[in-house]
Amino acid sequence: MNTSYQLDVDKIRRDFPTLKREVNSGASLVYLDNAATSLRPIQVMAQITRFYRDHNSNIHRGVHTLSVEATEMFENIRSKVGKFINAEDSREVIFTRGTTESINLVVNSWGRKFLKPNDEVIISELEHHSNIVPWQMLRDSIGIKLKYIPMLDNGHLDMDVAESMINSKTKIVSITAVSNALGTIIPIEKVISLAKKQGALVLVDCAQSVPHLKVDVQSLGADFMAFSAHKMLGPTGVGVLWGKFDILDSMDPFLGGGDMILTVNMDHSTWAEIPSKFEAGTPNIGGVIGFGAAIDYLNDIGMENIRAHEVDLTDYALQKMIDVPGITIFGPNLAKERGGVISFALENVHPHDIGQILDDNGVAVRAGHHCAQPVMNALGVPATVRASFYIYNTREDIDALVNGLSVTTDLFGVKS
Ligand code: PMP
Repeated sequence: MNTSYQLDVDKIRRDFPTLKREVNSGASLVYLDNAATSLRPIQVMAQITRFYRDHNSNIHRGVHTLSVEATEMFENIRSKVGKFINAEDSREVIFTRGTTESINLVVNSWGRKFLKPNDEVIISELEHHSNIVPWQMLRDSIGIKLKYIPMLDNGHLDMDVAESMINSKTKIVSITAVSNALGTIIPIEKVISLAKKQGALVLVDCAQSVPHLKVDVQSLGADFMAFSAHKMLGPTGVGVLWGKFDILDSMDPFLGGGDMILTVNMDHSTWAEIPSKFEAGTPNIGGVIGFGAAIDYLNDIGMENIRAHEVDLTDYALQKMIDVPGITIFGPNLAKERGGVISFALENVHPHDIGQILDDNGVAVRAGHHCAQPVMNALGVPATVRASFYIYNTREDIDALVNGLSVTTDLFGVKS
């Protein structure tokens, strides 16, 4: 056991009532689908309930007590998120519905304003669909060129190609920090330095990094960063776009409506300052306030401890799973080169069958293309099974996964 970090998993597990669930008539739940969404601790649920019970109100526009309280609670979370990622100014934190909306905001508000036909946008073969499709839509609408840094067989990006692909025509590199499909940790600092040499902006999809690793936006040097609360103990329907102040300030609004305006006349309107300019309509107030409790929870544990725990679990899982007959584990060989994600296949067994049998045994994993079809195409498979870990997972959970896999291989007669 790696003892160089401090994380009281038994205590943590007591905060997650879902872990007490049984599924399929009596199997104890082993939750290994954290890359899709994490569980939520009682502290987050309690904070959401507290808001609706004691402070329920709309924000930014009321003078009555509840509205003032709700506004203060909501804005405090903006500062908390800013501190969590070390933003210079909390106005650089825009609340959205999630990573997907954050990326769409940049594509539409920055891309439509500043990109011209034939300008080059660089993404990678490892992206989640939410960092591919919005750029394709922009390409089809205004004629930009979209280029993909290819993936190598070992699940890493081909950095030699990246180096030649990022050139003076590149206007933005939009890239994931950690692949949701394979777990690969991307050398984001290197990508940023290549982009900066060419004067290009960088958007980092941090959906799989901010929940698991310490991220410091100032030392990273990117221009935009997107992530979702629901993958880091917070509620669904809340996300963040962080962007450098001057760049956000120069962009056009994304959605029009209430809260994002300064003045509205019959013939024209003017915009509010950031962050309001990008937060049209009533936001998910209760969700943002619950997200604050999630950040407190993660801060109490410490992101370094979270990362160390996940490396320990991933290392253990890689060692155990390699002995499963007929298994192929995709992505980097070493735990330190991955987030807590293991994508795999069993010879002659469809990933959905594996997922089903694991579920019969209480083990929740994801089987499918993980919203990353280009990765599946590069691997030459239609789908994989993905087990993904978080703070409440244990080595016993991985043993349960491996036991479920031996039930599967026995049933399908898979031999090594
Ligand atoms: N990017 C990555 C790397 C992801 O893992 C996900 C979620 N699976 C997303 C983007 C999209 O996040 P959301 O669905 O919360 O918008």
